[in-house]
Amino acid sequence: MFSKKLHVFSLENITILNPDRFPMHPQKSDAIILQHIDYGESDRIVTFFTPEQGLLKGFARGARKSRKRFGAALEPFSGVRLIWRQRPNSSLLNLQEAELLDLRDGLRRDLKALALAAYGCELVTALFGEGGAHPEVYAMLKSLLDQLDVDGGCAEYRLLLELRLLRLSGHEPHLLHCAVCGGALPEQVHFSAEQGGSLCPVCRVPGARPVSLATLGSLARCRETPADRFAGFHLGATTLGEGAPLCTAALDAQLPRRIKSREFLDRLEPLPAAPRPSDGGGHS
Ligand SMILES: [Zn+2]
Repeated sequence: MFSKKLHVFSLENITILNPDRFPMHPQKSDAIILQHIDYGESDRIVTFFTPEQGLLKGFARGARKSRKRFGAALEPFSGVRLIWRQRPNSSLLNLQEAELLDLRDGLRRDLKALALAAYGCELVTALFGEGGAHPEVYAMLKSLLDQLDVDGGCAEYRLLLELRLLRLSGHEPHLLHCAVCGGALPEQVHFSAEQGGSLCPVCRVPGARPVSLATLGSLARCRETPADRFAGFHLGATTLGEGAPLCTAALDAQLPRRIKSREFLDRLEPLPAAPRPSDGGGHS
């Protein structure tokens, strides 16, 4: 059984015919561990996010059997400094060393924080994938994890995370004008993620969700703040009640797949109920 698995990943044994084609010098970068999966009896495959090379995957030989080389550095959500080498004919890197910079132990003691951390890491993986530098996304994710570490999880952080990811992935919904005709909006608006955002009464489509202009204004102001700032936001019940489901819906319209960690998050802290169409809205 093991030899069968080894056959798939037996890149260590491949003879390099032309070493110049493969830059084998070690590379070093700070990184955030997104997840790891066990491989064979003693190894791990680790997914991590770097500022300059985005999402990468590495093979950590012996990571499960001996803690000498990697220690606790490969735990998800940890901040680390990694050294790796490329492997010929493989996008899977060969992890050499991992220095633990910040385990973020605080977020591991708070279920909501843990659920939000997993959600953030899974969203970054789904939206940005492998390849390409995303320094702003790295800074945003690092800041979110740091905040969860010191402060636990809350509904504001989820909303901010989703708003920032919409912006950083280039999928901002139209908030303060009609997404279809570009016209001005009245006090009571509707929102459709499929239509690209807010809708005026003329462009409103069936199934669009009612929302007040005041909530859209609050979301627009949040969106304009630096992507790596999470501290100091306190949103009113109306803004959260109306705005949080809009952000999740807008993100869902862009995601290539279902986000597994959201189910756990929703069980811990359900999104506020959608306002009834007859509600007069309200201000945050
Ligand atoms: Zn319109």
